[in-house]
Amino acid sequence: MISRVRSNLKRQLMFRDRYCLQCGVPLIEDVNIDMHEGIISRAEMMGLPDEKKEKLFNQYNCVLICHNCNVNFPPKRKEVWDYLVSVYGKEKVEEEYQKMISLFKSRRPLKV
Ligand SMILES: [Zn+2]
Repeated sequence: MISRVRSNLKRQLMFRDRYCLQCGVPLIEDVNIDMHEGIISRAEMMGLPDEKKEKLFNQYNCVLICHNCNVNFPPKRKEVWDYLVSVYGKEKVEEEYQKMISLFKSRRPLKV
């Protein structure tokens, strides 16, 4: 179930993302923390079957940010990409990105 996959990932990401990527506020209270699909957005996932969507909720696509930033000024794809590269390295992030876009048959999301 997607909500379950997302909540498990969010819990996992709390060890990685201690501050909001956008404004730098410490991410402490769960109630104020949102998970943002920063590379392949939820809109781009529309139409994919659930088992493919679930694969897109992973640490190479999602970041935690504060609720305020998520609602008002979420980080751009490039900012999320650069952050992920700083954590995992360019090669790994590109490799995981290729895996994610291979889930889309003909309709490819925007390239970073
Ligand atoms: Zn923020």
